[in-house]
Amino acid sequence: MKISQIITGAGKPFPSLEIVPPLRGITKNQLLDSIRPFMEFNPPYINVTSHRDEIEYVPQADGSFRKVASRKRISETAVCGAIMGEFHIETVPHLICGGADAFQIDNLLNDFRFLGISNLVALRGDCLTGEKRFTPTPGGYRYASELVEAVRKFDSDAFCIGVAAYPEKHFEAANLDTDIRNLKKKVDAGADYIITQMFFDNKVFYDFVDRCRAEGIDVPVIPGLKPISTPKQIQLLPEAFSLDIPVELTREIEKHAADKAAVYQIGQEWCLEQSRDLLAHGYKSVHYYTMGKADNVVGILRELF
Ligand code: FAD
Repeated sequence: MKISQIITGAGKPFPSLEIVPPLRGITKNQLLDSIRPFMEFNPPYINVTSHRDEIEYVPQADGSFRKVASRKRISETAVCGAIMGEFHIETVPHLICGGADAFQIDNLLNDFRFLGISNLVALRGDCLTGEKRFTPTPGGYRYASELVEAVRKFDSDAFCIGVAAYPEKHFEAANLDTDIRNLKKKVDAGADYIITQMFFDNKVFYDFVDRCRAEGIDVPVIPGLKPISTPKQIQLLPEAFSLDIPVELTREIEKHAADKAAVYQIGQEWCLEQSRDLLAHGYKSVHYYTMGKADNVVGILRELF
């Protein structure tokens, strides 16, 4: 079933989850066991992130460098197949422009369709490690909007397409207005819904949605949340995702930084309150970034769904 139909047809709020494919060496059963605790809450779908190959330039005896590609993780396609086979729920692979040309993207879309996948999230993808600016692959796509067009051209009806948005602006965009206008290009190209980067202040999210609506973006916007679980994350998350953590939350975590369990509890409570507020504002779906950890998200879902 397509996500757009799930959202329209939902009688009551539901959670969705995002997982990162496991590192090589993890077995299918280990992966499935890490997801199993979520099944108690009947998530209608699970998103699976996509990661481009790492590129290393290895020095050679003659002074030249040899380009070596390596892949740390199992592919999103394999993970989706495993989840669908075991839990019989929808999976939403992320599809990225980075590291692939149009031919390779076409092959991936064929594999998705073959597996019976009818949803995906179209993204530009992160830069390579050490790269300051995104470099498109020759013969590939520069922006997610071009990828959305390509997916529609591949098969106009096969996939319900989600795209990413940033309530606090994408780090490269000159300002939020420009970023929202670029978001509209993705919707105009055929995206069916939007899923946001994590945020820790719901007011920022509501203002963002108002600005999207004012720009004529009328597709559903799914809020993305992540519970903070370690003191380090108040530095790491802003660095990695270019976002703000509210002063009140930062102070609480700093105050209890030496007490791991207390920080975990504070992060979970904050996310729970954000979730409650979103549901009270009529949002039917809340998306949780699990980032490889089930416990704190399971604790939140148990209170809400
Ligand atoms: P785009 O929409 O292409 O935007 C990138 C930048 O270009 C923005 O600043 C935008 O304003 C600008 N822009 C867009 N169109 C134009 C245009 N036509 N002209 C000029 N400027 C333009 N990364 C991964 O590698 N794998 C994942 O699985 C993954 N999943 C994610 C899931 C979510 C929900 C989110 C929010 C992010 C995810 N990311 C993932 C990270 C994402 O790939 C990066 O944030 C990336 O830098 C931007 O991707 P995008 O699809 O938003 O890009």
